[in-house]
Amino acid sequence: MRDLARHPELLSLNCATVRQRWNLQQIIEGCQRHGIRAIAPWRDQVQAMGLDAAAKAIRAAGLAVNGYCRGGMFTSPDAAGRRKAMDDNRRAVDEAAAIGADCLILVVGGVPAGSKGVAGAHAQVEDAIARLLEHARAGGVKLGLEPLHPMYAADRACVNTLRHANELCDRLGAGIGVAVDVYHCWWDPTLEAEIARAGRAGRILGFHVCDWLVPTADMLLDRGMMGDGVIDIPLIRGWVEAAGYEGFVEAEIFSANNWWKRDPEEVLAVVKQRYATVC
Ligand code: ZN
Repeated sequence: MRDLARHPELLSLNCATVRQRWNLQQIIEGCQRHGIRAIAPWRDQVQAMGLDAAAKAIRAAGLAVNGYCRGGMFTSPDAAGRRKAMDDNRRAVDEAAAIGADCLILVVGGVPAGSKGVAGAHAQVEDAIARLLEHARAGGVKLGLEPLHPMYAADRACVNTLRHANELCDRLGAGIGVAVDVYHCWWDPTLEAEIARAGRAGRILGFHVCDWLVPTADMLLDRGMMGDGVIDIPLIRGWVEAAGYEGFVEAEIFSANNWWKRDPEEVLAVVKQRYATVC
């Protein structure tokens, strides 16, 4: 494994980590102050700043954009809803290209309202990604499929294991890969094998870190700072690197009652310190 303390340039900040207190311009400046060299911005913050202005500011700051958050939410009970989602996803692809993102992260959507089980959602998601891929390939934007923890299967993402994501990528072909987020995948006994499989296919597009707190107070907004929970982050990072991944390590912390309430200057300092010591 690489010694991350010697590779500070590989740390990326998912902007959600500090976005409650800072707009995108403030995040860009904060990253510069703290020597963070890459970000994963969110669409609403980019749109609030203006796409051109955001792209220009990010470039001027010398920041890489390792991922753009996010596309997906493809599932809908009716065709009109799915069409609307597809139109929005095409715009997200275009924005990702304009901002120079390495990939557009996909959170695929859950079970459509009024239906039961996941089979219908799985079919809608695969069909939608296949169609979005045509647009993404034409625009030179990679799609980063992110499996989410199974507790989100109903409402956020019906792709919940790296195995399922790998199977989809196998069927969908060029232009799509996976984002491995330790928060979503750490519990999976097949994780090491599926990371290796993704690596053989050259499709690991992102590696996201935070931690799983015990107990977890909120399904969405109680993620821990790296080192504060039960995930063996160095172990999983070792698997990802053994699989050939040389990209950014993205800190992504949704924490409504702790880190989001703190001064972002402090949050960035702690992210940097934990990145160097426990990731
Ligand atoms: Zn993630």
